[in-house]
Amino acid sequence: MKLKINKIQAKSVLTPSKLPGADWVVNSYVGCSFGCKYCYAAFIGRWKHPGKEWGSFVDVKINAPEILKKELLKLERKHGSKNFGSILFSSVTDPYLGIEAKYQITRKCLEVLFGFGYQGEISILTKSPLATRDIDLFKKLNISVGFTVTTLEDKVVRFLEGNAPPASARIKALKQLYEAGIFTYAFIGPLLPHFTVQKEKLEQLFTKLESIGIKEVWLEHIHFTPIVKGRLFKYLEKQAPGLIPEFKKADTQEYRNQLEKIIKSALMGKNLKLGLNEVIYHRKVKQLNK
Ligand code: SF4
Repeated sequence: MKLKINKIQAKSVLTPSKLPGADWVVNSYVGCSFGCKYCYAAFIGRWKHPGKEWGSFVDVKINAPEILKKELLKLERKHGSKNFGSILFSSVTDPYLGIEAKYQITRKCLEVLFGFGYQGEISILTKSPLATRDIDLFKKLNISVGFTVTTLEDKVVRFLEGNAPPASARIKALKQLYEAGIFTYAFIGPLLPHFTVQKEKLEQLFTKLESIGIKEVWLEHIHFTPIVKGRLFKYLEKQAPGLIPEFKKADTQEYRNQLEKIIKSALMGKNLKLGLNEVIYHRKVKQLNK
């Protein structure tokens, strides 16, 4: 699939967040070249690039650093402080896509936050080892850097996470960040259905994360919006129809209860804090935000 890159002028960059654990989000790009099969952000494609496949386009918010600077000054005037809450990079793209190496939009936005003297928490969530490029900057900020690690198996990544970097590269990057003194965390989401049948895989994942210095894990149940179901099931029908019943089962409360028991037992005796003290479930979060 050929990647189409467009440069765009963003109207806003710092957006109020509806996600648990974040007050604001910064998305340096529109679209995501990783194109994970379960991505809940794929709805953006319908809206911004109708008819285009998720993963086939990325819009670069070329003016994002300048806009962010203006927004920070405006919010400082409003709040009378340099702390307006926690900021997450990113919610509907990956902040360290391959093209970030060239455009450096995420890096420049972080430099703006540093130059402004932002005093709130900043959090990065990525699947890309390119994040290690910015260790120098992370050291100057009040930041935590998280990697999404849904599995330890590179073949599962290739199957479900499109062009995203392999799990082994993410583990290596997390270790490098930890050794550089950066606070790191792991995000296991969506929780894949095989964890209920191969319980030892979840246990192995936690053990690996603990061994590379992770102290906090965030877990999230799969979020089956109509667009997620449409894309994922169309892909599975072609590639592995036998997995469809497993994924369908993952959309029930009974399944979520069963998985949470497995998680509880796998976490027992480990020095891993569960982010928000619960497994995130998007529909529940939505109801709470109403
Ligand atoms: S990396 Fe994140 S935003 Fe990008 S396609 Fe995968 S799930 Fe979606």
